[in-house]
Amino acid sequence: MHFGFSDEQDDFRASVAAFAQAKLTPHYASDDRNAAFRQELLTDLTSQGIVGLRIPEQYGGQGADAVTTGIASEEVSRADINAAYVLLIASLVGEIIHTAGNEQQRREWLPAIADGNSLPCFCLTEPDHGSDAANLSVRAVPDGSGWRITGEKTSISLGMDATTALVMARTGDTGARGVSAFYFRLDETHLHRSAFSDLGGRSIGRASLAFDNHPVPAEALVGNTGEGFIRTMQGFDYSRALIGLMVLGTAQAAIDDAIAYAKERVAFGQPISRQQGVAFPLVEAATQVHGARLLCYEALWRKDMGLPHGLQGNMAKWWAPKLAVEACHQALLTFGHAGYSDEVPQGQRMRDAIGLEIGDGTAQIAKLVTARHLFGREFAP
Ligand SMILES: Cc1cc2nc3c(=O)[nH]c(=O)nc-3n(C[C@H](O)[C@H](O)[C@H](O)COP(=O)(O)OP(=O)(O)OC[C@H]3O[C@@H](n4cnc5c(N)ncnc54)[C@H](O)[C@@H]3O)c2cc1C
Repeated sequence: MHFGFSDEQDDFRASVAAFAQAKLTPHYASDDRNAAFRQELLTDLTSQGIVGLRIPEQYGGQGADAVTTGIASEEVSRADINAAYVLLIASLVGEIIHTAGNEQQRREWLPAIADGNSLPCFCLTEPDHGSDAANLSVRAVPDGSGWRITGEKTSISLGMDATTALVMARTGDTGARGVSAFYFRLDETHLHRSAFSDLGGRSIGRASLAFDNHPVPAEALVGNTGEGFIRTMQGFDYSRALIGLMVLGTAQAAIDDAIAYAKERVAFGQPISRQQGVAFPLVEAATQVHGARLLCYEALWRKDMGLPHGLQGNMAKWWAPKLAVEACHQALLTFGHAGYSDEVPQGQRMRDAIGLEIGDGTAQIAKLVTARHLFGREFAP
């Protein structure tokens, strides 16, 4: 067993960390206050090759493996977890286009995602169908050689700013096999966007997108009709491990700050780090972050090896966000009253991490999928 990253991956981690420290950290709090997506962020991420990391080189990306993409997610998130949504969504959408799309679609769409000319969003959730996504009701009906899409998608990350969307819409009967995937440029004349006012993740413009007879060309269909939902679920096995590393990156930053503060802050004549009551909760948080991190990287490594990784990806999805929120909370408390203010980023990290306890599937849904792996579908809840 080889337990570690390659030299190339270590160098890559160091370069992403330096970039994130210089370009992302200074904006983390102000982007939250402004509650708007900053276009310069997209330029910075694309110029660093981060958005197209997972897109193959022949389609304008970096052709990185899944583990390397995980490293970028983790390091970007240490500085700004919200910036990592751009990589997450580009990776998920890019992956589905690459595996389910045809050669012309790959050549046309993937370079634009990698170079930032398209900012994609991923549209699955609807007002009446979140966890129960297979029963979604947004409909695509044939229109001439193409399609028209009508209905509302909600809770869409980057929804206020995306220029393109991968939309899951019903083209057939009820259930998962009646859902198809369409990728197209958003046309404001057939679209109404409305933003959420969120607890955290305030710079990613989570929004509802109401499609009003939105025209979609025939070439927008990704894969065959009826394949959209199944392709999405396959992509989730991977994106759930990336999300794990996002929240763990921000939790690790919170723990690091708390340890540094505990060594400086003096109470009762000595640094508070000398109190077990201060040190041990941070030890526990650091241990759990470490364990969950290994699980996420195992999922990504298995993907790179062509091995099934749904079990590890779903274990990571229920576990990592929960423990990351708890770790951020503990790290906040270490700062005493200052932790409760905007003077330090601990509170924002916690608010931001909570979003990913829900986004991409809640803990209950990830446990449901995990149970199917462990018990078999017939015996699972
Ligand atoms: C920050 C953030 C970003 C998001 N980004 C996107 C995005 O980009 N694209 C997108 O399509 N969606 C996105 N979502 C939506 C997200 O995927 C859904 O919110 C999620 O799947 C849950 O759906 P729901 O909110 O409708 O909750 P519901 O499905 O109504 O669930 C409500 C509660 O009931 C529980 N529950 C439901 N069914 C079961 C069950 N069978 N067993 C046990 N418990 C159950 C849930 O776990 C939850 O606690 C995002 C959400 C957030 C918060």
